[in-house]
Amino acid sequence: MSELPAHDYALIKVDDYFSAKRKRQFDYIASQGCRFRCTFCADPTVFKRGWYGLHPDRMARELTDHHRRYRFDEIAFQDETFFTSRTRVEEIADAFLAAGLDVAWTATMRADQGARLDDALLAKCKRAGLRRAMIGVESGSPEMLQHIKKDITLEQVYASTERLARHGLGAILNFIVGFPASRTRVCRPRWMWPPACAPSAPTLKSPFSISVLIPATRLRMNCCAMAMFSPIRSKPGPISITSAVAKPG
Ligand code: SF4
Repeated sequence: MSELPAHDYALIKVDDYFSAKRKRQFDYIASQGCRFRCTFCADPTVFKRGWYGLHPDRMARELTDHHRRYRFDEIAFQDETFFTSRTRVEEIADAFLAAGLDVAWTATMRADQGARLDDALLAKCKRAGLRRAMIGVESGSPEMLQHIKKDITLEQVYASTERLARHGLGAILNFIVGFPASRTRVCRPRWMWPPACAPSAPTLKSPFSISVLIPATRLRMNCCAMAMFSPIRSKPGPISITSAVAKPG
């Protein structure tokens, strides 16, 4: 990936994006692909479960130049899974510190990766600007997590959230409601913050999205096979969605 030319941000009006977001937050993609197999996601088909990252020195150099030009307050790493390689994350933090890149950043993290991260690395990432991690939880139901092959547990979500909170780092926990479970079963997401997270509730957010059957995903293929969804008519079948409950604190 490091052999590819840099994205040319001059082709877009970056300030218009800041205005639309109402904050000077700069989007940047530092890696491509993902090694996991979630059935609702097109990534496993598109990248064949491969993952490729930009060299940390190149990231530091490009982001320092972008910061000089666009004067943003924050970087949002829009990678599928920023924390895939512990070694690389540490090199990124070292490169940012060496470059004197004094900017806050948010990055994507899987719960199983976050639960494994050591305190020394999180402390270094914080010194290098990390302020929050975005974790795809998707469902508060262990059965649904199994059904969509997310390959994480709620215990790992709790562990990563608590670890981030211990370092004064925020967490955005993303959920998806309305996964088609079967022709007749109602998808019923469940989620409660663990009591240990209560002190860090102000730094936690949990946005909810509605499930969409994206082409080339295993979930859509399964639904087509079960005649829940016709690829020709592109019309949803009899899928029930119940409202989700998020209870911070
Ligand atoms: S949802 Fe995230 S973890 Fe799962 S396959 Fe897609 S990019 Fe990977």
